[in-house]
Amino acid sequence: MTKQNRSFNLEGKVVLITGAARGIGLDCAQRLALAGASVMLTDVLEDLGENAISSIREKGGKAAFCKLDVTCEEDWQKAIAATLNSFAGLDVLVNNAGIEIAKPLLQMSIEEWRRMHAINVEGVFLGTKHAISAMISDDNGGHGGSIINLSSVAGLVGVPGFAGYCAAKGAVRLFSKAVAAEFGSMNIRVNSIHPGVIKTEMGDKAIQDVANIVFGGDFEQGLNLIKNNTPLGRIGETADVAAMVQFLASDAACYITGTELVIDGGISAV
Ligand code: NDP
Repeated sequence: MTKQNRSFNLEGKVVLITGAARGIGLDCAQRLALAGASVMLTDVLEDLGENAISSIREKGGKAAFCKLDVTCEEDWQKAIAATLNSFAGLDVLVNNAGIEIAKPLLQMSIEEWRRMHAINVEGVFLGTKHAISAMISDDNGGHGGSIINLSSVAGLVGVPGFAGYCAAKGAVRLFSKAVAAEFGSMNIRVNSIHPGVIKTEMGDKAIQDVANIVFGGDFEQGLNLIKNNTPLGRIGETADVAAMVQFLASDAACYITGTELVIDGGISAV
């Protein structure tokens, strides 16, 4: 038997989230802080990040901000050091930062392909490596940790016009499983989550991209195509994803690792 209490409460846990100034990352930061975690928000958007920590603190949450471009190894070292310094530990990493470039394959440049992989794949590699190094150090108490990697339904199934994004998000899925296998004995859990279209700036861009590819640019037609193919009949909200992130961050998920959790209203099931 483990000593974990399987609670959803995050009191005493320290979390670092990338791309946390807006969108899904921001909602995760707010929710996890409300559940009791100390949250290090990181992003390239410094003003929005500072605003976000002020609003979390006003509600009684514990939060700090550190600038972090996930493609920069030096930024990662500084962000992890800042987290250990501010909150004396690291229990959870949410690799959330990402970009989406959708284009017919024959129009995609090697620079666009590399940029998408630098942020969506290399950023996840760097973060996972440096976070695990901190999590397994003696200073951290050796109690393990949880790594939560944002993939996508586009990391599970092919989407026309999204080949580069699908390749990057598919890489995140298998990377997560391999790291889960390598570090399970140290009680480090690693899982990927796979949202469908979620209402954020990126989600709106994805709907527009679908509309461009299928309907010559009509946003409403793109939106309706996605809704009509979604059993639950709606686009996802950031809160739908944040709830899953809270679960995986918590001890309630203490026997869950190396798996993929889909949050898409059922669109990938039909
Ligand atoms: P948003 O574009 O709304 O937010 C992403 C955040 O990440 C932004 O603040 C962005 O800043 C930041 N960011 C971009 N590049 C970097 C970088 N190099 N280093 C640090 N931060 C960076 O995206 P979402 O909230 O919608 O998406 C979050 C994650 O969820 C992504 O990994 C995405 O692929 C995934 N996802 C999203 C879906 C959706 O429909 N929204 C569906 C499936 C998966 P900036 O504005 O400067 O780019």
